[in-house]
Amino acid sequence: MSRPRPAADVDAYDLTADVIVVGLGIAGVAAALEAVEAGADTLVLEAAAAGGGTSALSGGIVYLGGGTPVQEACGFDDTAENMARFLAEACGPGVDRGKLEAFCEGSVELYHWLTDHGLEFEHTFYATTAGREPPDTSGLIYSGGEDAHPGAEVATPAPRGHHPRYPDAAGVHIMDVLLAELDRTAARVLTSTTVERLIVDGHRVVGVEARAGGKAIRAEARGGVALTAGGFVFNDDMVARHTPELLRANLRIGTDHDDGRGIRMAQAVGAATINMSAFECAVPITPPLGLMRGVIVNARGLRFVNEDAYTGRIGIELLARQDGEGYLIVDEDVYEVNLVGMQAMAVAETIEELAEEIRVPADALAATLDVYNRNASEGRDPLFHKRPEMLKPLAPPLGIIDLRVESTFYAVFTLGGLWTDADGAVLSEDGEAIAGLHAAGRTTSGIAVRGYVSGISLADGLFFGRRAGRSAAIDLAGTA
Ligand SMILES: Cc1cc2nc3c(=O)[nH]c(=O)nc-3n(C[C@H](O)[C@H](O)[C@H](O)COP(=O)(O)OP(=O)(O)OC[C@H]3O[C@@H](n4cnc5c(N)ncnc54)[C@H](O)[C@@H]3O)c2cc1C
Repeated sequence: MSRPRPAADVDAYDLTADVIVVGLGIAGVAAALEAVEAGADTLVLEAAAAGGGTSALSGGIVYLGGGTPVQEACGFDDTAENMARFLAEACGPGVDRGKLEAFCEGSVELYHWLTDHGLEFEHTFYATTAGREPPDTSGLIYSGGEDAHPGAEVATPAPRGHHPRYPDAAGVHIMDVLLAELDRTAARVLTSTTVERLIVDGHRVVGVEARAGGKAIRAEARGGVALTAGGFVFNDDMVARHTPELLRANLRIGTDHDDGRGIRMAQAVGAATINMSAFECAVPITPPLGLMRGVIVNARGLRFVNEDAYTGRIGIELLARQDGEGYLIVDEDVYEVNLVGMQAMAVAETIEELAEEIRVPADALAATLDVYNRNASEGRDPLFHKRPEMLKPLAPPLGIIDLRVESTFYAVFTLGGLWTDADGAVLSEDGEAIAGLHAAGRTTSGIAVRGYVSGISLADGLFFGRRAGRSAAIDLAGTA
């Protein structure tokens, strides 16, 4: 299905453009706008009935830093180096250094590109839980645990979650604004058109073959093709092979078109993939923030994370390393029903009862709570470094909030994909750029590798999408 078609087998092309963009989410719209701005005749092919993709469903937090006008106006110092230090820890290990440096150094410029294209960001900071978009039009939040362990120790804490002036989840607004910008250009957009394979002339990608309304369409790309077709979270076979943990999660996030096709059609022309087992998993324990004052234990009755960490860090820990087993222990002071309705599954008067209820070793659980309470009463957490304001000894009766994967929300999507360089060129197993082929967004492995921060997916889709579009347009000059 994804095998490439040799150009020699194509009698005539139905369409011709300088740059062809496959998929119109955040990475695709960025690629298309940049290609047009570089002077390329641009054709966008989108499988769905309209552009938007998963990006339009998102919270709309964009991870920007290094001293953006919003950060400065809100009184936060940041530099590209500081941002890179934080992201290397939060999104790693194994973050691509070349991409990371380019991304951080170009972040302020990306902010201005977004505002030049019509997005507005209020110069206001909202103190919310990491990973949650503000419930109003505020422009800036901590979105990845920058002010918590371990991020706060590797870099000076600075909030970088930029939220456009839009009440609540702003992904739809970002896409509306950028799609309207694209609409004002000469770019051609064909919707309900699914790209199925690449067309190659020798080792060079020269076009795509798509299907629209049962009819095959062959489109020639004089410069290059940019694959921005999303990830593979809705392809069960690929998930089973690369990220089997996600089969247990009850909330795969994305659209049906996150079927990995962009990845597979590139693999079929020799593209390498990287970090295919990487995923994001958010377990929305907070808000409310106060629940961070509880204690999370695994199936062995042991703590494994600071409870005030970014919810994505807790989620990845739970699913990737604790086999989806965890319990949040709270007392009457700490307990609240959380925003997504998580409630105490049981209440215990003693630690023995508690251990029996959740079937963890009673002695281990008693030791965990004893050490935690003793240190918490002194405002310390020497094992996991929770912030002092989130520490308090827990006193019976103790409530248990069930964090097992079968019982609560595990919102997941894939992070692995095509191996690309910092300019969005798709690489082969030998690390050579495949002529005429570029990619960005969740079709690729981006900044987030083993960890995640809210806003990084839209941000790296924008950043490398622009670069992929520009490189495809530059290819045109190279081939002219
Ligand atoms: C509820 C929710 C909240 C989120 N919040 C945030 C957030 O606040 N910040 C953040 O950074 N990330 C967030 N994310 C994650 C983020 O939205 C996605 O990772 C990101 O939007 C992916 O962008 P993309 O351009 O790679 O893919 P998409 O936006 O999915 O775009 C891919 C496009 O390609 C099309 N396509 C697929 N296959 C083909 C084909 N063969 N031919 C033609 N077209 C094709 C699709 O239809 C789609 O339109 C959130 C996700 C969800 C679901």
